[in-house]
Amino acid sequence: MKKVFIFLGPPGSGKGTQTSRLSDKLSIPHIDTGSLLRKSIQDATEQGLIAKSFIDKGQLVPISVVSEVIKERISKEDCKDGFILDGFPRSIEQADALNNIMTVTKFNLKDNGLAIYFDIKTDALIHRLVNRRSCPKCGTIYNLVSNPPKIMDYCDICDTKLITRDDDNEETALLRFKTYEKETAPLYDYYKQMGILKELDADKPIGEIWENLKELVLDEK
Ligand code: AMP
Repeated sequence: MKKVFIFLGPPGSGKGTQTSRLSDKLSIPHIDTGSLLRKSIQDATEQGLIAKSFIDKGQLVPISVVSEVIKERISKEDCKDGFILDGFPRSIEQADALNNIMTVTKFNLKDNGLAIYFDIKTDALIHRLVNRRSCPKCGTIYNLVSNPPKIMDYCDICDTKLITRDDDNEETALLRFKTYEKETAPLYDYYKQMGILKELDADKPIGEIWENLKELVLDEK
C-alpha cells in the first residue's frame, strides 16, 4: 500500500474531514499546513508573524516558511510509517520543493506516493466555507448546513465552543479561490504526469466520499 498521501482540491472541498478519517484508519499523521501555520500565529513565532499577513489576504505564505514547517514535521518519528499531506504542496514550486524534502524520509513520491484530487465545482464552496466551524481543541470540523454539531456551537467530541476561522469570511474566501485557481490547480497535471494521481468525486455526502476514498486507497498496492 502507498505510504504518502497528498490531498489536492479547492478550499472547502472536504479534504480536512476525510484526511482525519484516513489518518485514524491507517494510524499515520495528518499534516495540515493551514493548521500548523495557525498554530505558529497563536504561539506568536517569527514564522507565525510572517504567515498572518498572507493568510489574512488569502495568499500563499512564502515557500521558505512552509517548506521549513513541512520539513521539520515530516522528519519526526511518527512519520516513519507514512503521512498524509493536506494543503501542501499548493504550487508547482512547492511540489518541486517537496521532491527534495522527501529525502529526509525513506519514501519517494513516484513509488510510495498517491495524490488524491477532490473533484468538485467551486461555485457552491463559498457557502460551505462561511458555514464552516471548527473545534479549537480537537480539530473536528463541522458545517452548520451539511454537518452541524448536535448542540449548536459546541463540539460533539470534547464539548469545546466552536470557532469560525478568521479567513472563512466571504471576502477572504473569494481571494483564496483565486489563489487556488492560479497556483494550486496546475498540480493536477503535475501529479498526473508523475503517474500518481487519482480522482475522487467530492460532490457527495461525507459518508459516501469516505467509502470511495477507502476503496481508492486500499486498492493501491
Ligand atoms: P487552509 O487551512 O489549508 O485553508 O489554509 C489557510 C491559509 O494558510 C491559506 O489560505 C494560505 O494563506 C496558508 N497556507 C496553508 N498551506 C499553505 C501552503 N502550502 N503554502 C502557502 N500558504 C499556505
